[in-house]
Amino acid sequence: MSIQSNIQSIRQHIPEHVQLVCVSKFNPNESITEAYEAGERIFGESKVQELCEKYESLPKDIRWHFIGHLQTNKIKFIVPFVSLIHGVDTYKLLQEIDKHAAKAEKTVNCLLQIHIAQEETKFGFSAEELLEMFEAGEWKYLKNIRLCGLMGMATYTDNKEQVRSEFRYLKTLFNRVKSGYFAGESSFCELSMGMSDDYPIAIEEGSTIVRIGSLIFGHRNY
Ligand SMILES: *Cc1c(COP(=O)(O)O)cnc(C)c1O
Repeated sequence: MSIQSNIQSIRQHIPEHVQLVCVSKFNPNESITEAYEAGERIFGESKVQELCEKYESLPKDIRWHFIGHLQTNKIKFIVPFVSLIHGVDTYKLLQEIDKHAAKAEKTVNCLLQIHIAQEETKFGFSAEELLEMFEAGEWKYLKNIRLCGLMGMATYTDNKEQVRSEFRYLKTLFNRVKSGYFAGESSFCELSMGMSDDYPIAIEEGSTIVRIGSLIFGHRNY
């Protein structure tokens, strides 16, 4: 299957209000160009250096999403051009992004990553930590970041009901944060959940952004 036909068949299952992030990490520029020529404009990368190199060499109307674990010493490299950072998993990181964004006279769009999986290895806030952060209120003074919503990764399992319940949990948390802290603010509207194996369930459970890699570009050993 070509990248183009992979995209065509995935697109049939994605409603218009849901954004597709083509996760191009570890894939060469030629593959991205193929997806670009098929009409895709949003690409996701998980390593800062790889992202910067691709940004330099590929068309400037691509909207680059950072989906990996961001180290504070690398924030400055992506702040000038990144369109959305998905995986903000500590308040400290949010503060650091704000600092660099201020220096660059930018506002950087961010999603807060929530730990919804049973696996220990996935990063993210717990619901408690998240609500604590919002209650504390200091985040309101971070003027150079824009909180656009939440992101999460479900457990890697064949148990569809477990995956569904983790997505549902995230959606419930999203609604609670939205009504509690962003009522009437249209910018807090994104729920990034769903990957190659579970994106149809994620969409049923209220996802607004799916991040799909291997279904488009082929399977790799991440
Ligand atoms: C790699 C990755 C994806 C894409 O995973 P696939 O299973 O290949 O679709 C999505 N989100 C994050 C955070 C990733 O690291």
